[in-house]
Amino acid sequence: MYDVIVVGARCAGSPLAMLLARSGLRVVVLDRAAFPRDTVSTHYIQPSGLARLARWGLLDRLTATGCPPVTEALWWFGDTAVRGFAPPDGDIGFALAPRRTVLDALLVDAAREAGAEVRERCTVRSLLRSDDGTVTGVRYQSEGGPPRTLRAPVVVGADGRDSTVARLAGAPAYHARPPLTVVYYTYWRGLPAGRRHRNEVFLEGDKQIGVIPTHDDAYLVQAARPRDFFPTYRSDIERHYLKAVEEAAPSLAAELAGAERVERFRGSAALDNFYRRPYGPGWALVGDAGYHKDPLTGQGISDAWRDAELLAEAILAHRSGTADWDTALAAYERARNAASALLYDFTCEAASFEFDPMTRQLVRVLAEHREEADRFFGVIAGTVPAERFFAPDNLLSLLGRLPGDALAELTGTEGTP
Ligand SMILES: Cc1cc2nc3c(=O)[nH]c(=O)nc-3n(C[C@H](O)[C@H](O)[C@H](O)COP(=O)(O)OP(=O)(O)OC[C@H]3O[C@@H](n4cnc5c(N)ncnc54)[C@H](O)[C@@H]3O)c2cc1C
Repeated sequence: MYDVIVVGARCAGSPLAMLLARSGLRVVVLDRAAFPRDTVSTHYIQPSGLARLARWGLLDRLTATGCPPVTEALWWFGDTAVRGFAPPDGDIGFALAPRRTVLDALLVDAAREAGAEVRERCTVRSLLRSDDGTVTGVRYQSEGGPPRTLRAPVVVGADGRDSTVARLAGAPAYHARPPLTVVYYTYWRGLPAGRRHRNEVFLEGDKQIGVIPTHDDAYLVQAARPRDFFPTYRSDIERHYLKAVEEAAPSLAAELAGAERVERFRGSAALDNFYRRPYGPGWALVGDAGYHKDPLTGQGISDAWRDAELLAEAILAHRSGTADWDTALAAYERARNAASALLYDFTCEAASFEFDPMTRQLVRVLAEHREEADRFFGVIAGTVPAERFFAPDNLLSLLGRLPGDALAELTGTEGTP
C-alpha cells in the first residue's frame, strides 16, 4: 500500500516525506513522539537552510511565527572580535532560531498537507526482511497497542543519532570521532534589545558560550565545555554554567544577573561525530541517523534538509527507472559527504577547543577585514563554498594580509621589518 515508510518525523523525516508525497509517492511516517514536542537541541538555522525552506514554500509560515531574524554574527576568539554576516543565499540574508516545538510541528503539518500519512506515538521496534535480507517493512507499536506491521519497498531511518533503523540494518559508521563537548542551555528574558538580531559566540580557552534570540522575547544561552568535564558539569549544572559564562563572557554574565531565567536547563554529552553508510537493500538513512556531528557550528537542521532533498532525488530516480537502487543511493552518499566534509573537519576542530596556529592567525585577518569575515560566516552558513574558502591559495592570500610578526610566528622564521 505504501511506497516509502519513514521512521522519524522531525527535521529530516517530515521534509523527506513532504517531497516524496508531492511527487506522488504514497508515504507513511511513524514517530514515537506526538507534536508539538520539544527535543534536546538548540536551533540556529543557517541562511542556506532557510533558502531551502523558502523553495519548499514554508519560510513565510515560519517567519510569521514571530521569530526574530538574525542579521549579525559576532564571534569572540579570546579577545579578538570577528564581526560580520554571511552573504545572502538568493534573497535570504538572515538566520532564524525558532523553537523546535514550533519548527517541527510546522514540518509535520507540511508533510501531511503534501499527502503523507503521519502516525504519531508509534515506535518502530524491528525491521521486516525478505529471504535475501532486503528490508521490506517495519514492526511497530503504538502507545499501549499491540505490535503491528507495515510493508513498503523502501524504509528510511530519519530517527536521529541513535537510529533504530541504522542499528537494525547494520549501517557501518566511518570517519568517526568520539564526543568532544558537553553542552547545557536554557532560556532568558530581559537581555538588552541590542541582542535581538545578533548571534554572539564566545570562544575562550576550553569554554564556548553562544547566545541566540528566539520566540517570545527570549534568548537561548548555551555553555559548552570539553566532554571530560561532563561528570563535574552534571553534578551542579547551574553553578558550572554560570561559572563558564562568567569566565568566558563577563559582560554577558553581568547581563544575565539582571535577566530572568525562564526555563530549566537541558543538554547533552552524547555528541558523537560520525558518518554512516546511508543505504542498503531496501533501506536508507537521512539526517542525524546518517551523519552526526557536534552541534557547535549549528549545522544539523540545515544539513538534514539538504540531505532530505538529496535522498528524495535518489529515491525518485530509482522509482522512475533512471538509476538502479545502488547507483542512485551511492550518488546520494557521495553528494552528502562532498557537501559536508570540510565543515565536519572544522566543526571537530572547533569542538576540540584547540585551534591550530594557522586558524588562530586567520582569525586575526578576519577581525581586521570585514569582507573576509562575511565570507567566513558564509562558509558556516552554507552560502560560500567551503572548498573555495579553505582552498590553499585563498588561505595563503588571507595569511598574506598578516603583519610581519604574525607571519613569522606562524612560519617560525624572522619577520621582515
Ligand atoms: C544540544 C544540541 C544542540 C543543537 N543545536 C543545533 C543548532 O543550533 N542548529 C542546528 O542546525 N542543529 C542543532 N543540533 C542538531 C539538530 O538537533 C539535529 O541535527 C536535528 O534535530 C536532526 O534532525 P533529525 O530529524 O535527523 O533527527 P531528530 O531531530 O533526532 O528526530 C528524530 C525523530 O525520530 C523519532 N524516533 C527515534 N526513534 C524512533 C523509533 N524507533 N520509532 C519511531 N520514531 C523514532 C524521534 O522521536 C524523533 O522525533 C543540536 C543538537 C543538540 C543535541
